[in-house]
Amino acid sequence: MFFARINKLVHTLAFRLTLWYAAVFILSSGVAFALFYLLIVRIVDQRIDADLITHANRLDQIYALQGGVMMQRAAFLHVQAVGEKKIFFRLFYPSGVFFSSSNMSYWKNIFIDQKAVVGVLSEGRTYQLVTQHPPDVSYPVRVIYKRIGRNTVLQMGYAKESESNVLQSFKRNFLFTMAGLLVIAATVGWFTARRALAGVASVTRTARRISEDDLDTRVPIKHHHDEIDQLAMTFNQMLDRIRQLVTGIRQMNDNIAHDLRSPITRMRGLAEITLTGGEDLDEFRQMAASTIEECDRLLQMINTMLTIAHTEAGVDANTFESIDLATMAQDACTLFQPLAEDKGIRLQFSADDTCPVRGNTAMLQRVAANLVDNAIKYTPAAGHVWVSAQQRDRHCCLIVADNGPGIPVEDRQRIFQRFFRGDQSRIQGGSGLGLSLVQAIVKAHGGRIQLDSTPEKGTCFTVLLPADETLPHQQAGQAIH
Ligand code: ADP
Repeated sequence: MFFARINKLVHTLAFRLTLWYAAVFILSSGVAFALFYLLIVRIVDQRIDADLITHANRLDQIYALQGGVMMQRAAFLHVQAVGEKKIFFRLFYPSGVFFSSSNMSYWKNIFIDQKAVVGVLSEGRTYQLVTQHPPDVSYPVRVIYKRIGRNTVLQMGYAKESESNVLQSFKRNFLFTMAGLLVIAATVGWFTARRALAGVASVTRTARRISEDDLDTRVPIKHHHDEIDQLAMTFNQMLDRIRQLVTGIRQMNDNIAHDLRSPITRMRGLAEITLTGGEDLDEFRQMAASTIEECDRLLQMINTMLTIAHTEAGVDANTFESIDLATMAQDACTLFQPLAEDKGIRLQFSADDTCPVRGNTAMLQRVAANLVDNAIKYTPAAGHVWVSAQQRDRHCCLIVADNGPGIPVEDRQRIFQRFFRGDQSRIQGGSGLGLSLVQAIVKAHGGRIQLDSTPEKGTCFTVLLPADETLPHQQAGQAIH
């Protein structure tokens, strides 16, 4: 249980972020310390070297001006002024025989560096500086070798004890401070990462609740305008869309069930009446005829639904050909003329121009037929329907207008939904699929459909399709009535 929790914790993003944070912190602090430390060591060494060189040069000058005895006195005085534990001097011949030195009881393990001696005697160097590490002390000793006069070598050493102690304590303090800061940095990093990722956790919780079928839950937005807010907003937008789709699917299912129930109930009722009452063969024939009619209606509805689904999935561009929208609209008018006349409706067609478009002929014919059919169907007797084809900018338009009852404002968004039928329209035949099909076809041809309607005054549908610019335009100007 405990190990499982640790394992889970180790695999969290917050833990990994904290590790990264701590690692970067240690690395950058380590590099900064190393640079700082090296700088201090260099400055201290430079200062010590400069002191040793100055004093060695001064003794050389005294030897040259005042002789060996005065030089030795000056060396003794300097050692006493600085401290016998801190500094020493020795004078020896090239053979290695010492003839003068300060109190060397503190400097027993200081040896002569032969390389340095050769450097100042044979290679003509002015002085030679070396660092020695006597085995009995914990600090290094900086030693200068200098030739004095013709035949004497000065060895003067400086114990870097206090400097070494300061640097050691600096190192120790740095490590302690670092350890403390590391704990604080890791804690701060952990809480910062947890806080930053709290938004992600909230999105995850919401997603989990949604998977339990609660599509109404939304991720709370903190309004910090940060990435988490953007994630939450995008997630909520996606949920809105899913909710809309699910509602649409549910509504469509209800509509399908409703539209299927009526004809099936009718067929069942008819069959029941015929079975219980009728002995007559004609009654059975009539029932069979009605059943076939209802079945045809159902089949047509199912076929239209399938066509809409296929069209929405995309139309094969290989079936596209050059079509004159004006001619097509005129053909539709010719086809519906008898129906309009039966209803006492005046059907008028006009076209300013030829309207070349590329498309699937059968599909675009269905668009024109559906719109003209609706206009005649919903316009009362003695009404007027206008059909026209026009070119506007880079589009060809098919316009179908009527002076019928118009479409109520609240229905205008919904008339393109599958199975939607206006309240007033239910007395007319229809399935509520016509405009869905029209919209699917128009979209599949890269066009759009506009609706203008004024209640009691009429309705105007405008289909805009991209013009086929490869074809030349011609004046048409034809009209039928
Ligand atoms: P249907 O005509 O089978 O009912 P449609 O999808 O063709 O289905 O039309 C959906 C609804 O849009 C209709 O029920 C009707 O309420 C409204 N409608 C369509 N065209 C017109 C029109 N020209 N005038 C008034 N209402 C219309």
